[in-house]
Amino acid sequence: MEFHLTHEDSKSKARSGIISTPRGNFNSPVFMPVGTQGTVKAMSPEELQTIGVEIILCNAYHLYLRPGWQIIKKLGGLHSFINWPGPILTDSGGYQIFSISSLQKTNEEGVSFRSHIDGSEHFLTAQDVVDIQVRLDSDIMMVLDECLAYPASFERAKEALRRTLNWAKTSRNYYRGEKGLFGIVQGSTFKDLRKKAVDELIKLNFDGYALGGLSVGEPYNLRFEIISFVNMLLPTEKPRYLMGVGTPGEILEGIERGVDMFDCAMPTRIARTGTVFTWNGKVNIRNARHKEDNAPLDALCSCYTCKNYTRAYIRHLIWAREILGIRLTSYHNLHFLASLVRKARMAIKKNSFMHFKQEVIDNFKNLKNEEGNNV
Ligand SMILES: [Zn+2]
Repeated sequence: MEFHLTHEDSKSKARSGIISTPRGNFNSPVFMPVGTQGTVKAMSPEELQTIGVEIILCNAYHLYLRPGWQIIKKLGGLHSFINWPGPILTDSGGYQIFSISSLQKTNEEGVSFRSHIDGSEHFLTAQDVVDIQVRLDSDIMMVLDECLAYPASFERAKEALRRTLNWAKTSRNYYRGEKGLFGIVQGSTFKDLRKKAVDELIKLNFDGYALGGLSVGEPYNLRFEIISFVNMLLPTEKPRYLMGVGTPGEILEGIERGVDMFDCAMPTRIARTGTVFTWNGKVNIRNARHKEDNAPLDALCSCYTCKNYTRAYIRHLIWAREILGIRLTSYHNLHFLASLVRKARMAIKKNSFMHFKQEVIDNFKNLKNEEGNNV
């Protein structure tokens, strides 16, 4: 895996580049749609390619529990199993083990937990987590980490970081193949712990660095203060991946601070309840005022949904719980984010990222009160 930095914005830390994997290249900054169970919910791989998606994310924890890596490996690996030919990043499952499984117990080697599906007991070491991802045939793998909710005490965060760094060391020493392996910067909201994490991870020379443990309940401003701080310490020649953060506004704030890769399940999750992004803010299509609206979701959008369907019809489909409704809104939201990062890349190349960002944010604000939420 290689990262080639192509442009740097002179008025911010924003940068664009190309990340190469054996399964193809993708442009950064990039938004990676989340395919937790081996599918980006409601979307076919062909539709994702039509939207311009170049890389998707799958989750090793979920696929390990169901259907199991043995079945996926036997059937030719994850790309063949799910019919996605492009690069796949797999999350290690650390976040899921600590957030949705039960009875987690951590020791120096790894973590034991009970499956959230059937209650079965499991123990995974840092090496096991790498092995699972290698057997799935992931292109970019993440190391096992301990992700804490906010707030965490300094002592708790320090202890979790110590284990996370030990696991990172074990993982890097264990795997030196051609797939990408990313270290994960933890340390909660404590800058000295975050710095220690970066210092130790850089020594291990990972292929990229992820910013973990954010968007876990901390205040918005503190989140971006930590992102700025960590990015300032990370090497410029390696990609930076901000895990699980992905509203349009957050993506722009992240890009401004030098983040290259984003993922978030929210855009497709809110689509399933009828909330869509538009270049004038977020809209909930279930609202009564769209009942007879013959306009597309977004007049400025060129996606399949907006070219062919009206707000009134999509509103009807969502209320009637018709499958087509969530397919159309999911398609539109993913198209919106793919366009957002593509436009951001173009702005970086023209050295006008900050102008672009301000324009987008100003337009969002026009309608931010319609649904009572900021974008
Ligand atoms: Zn659209």
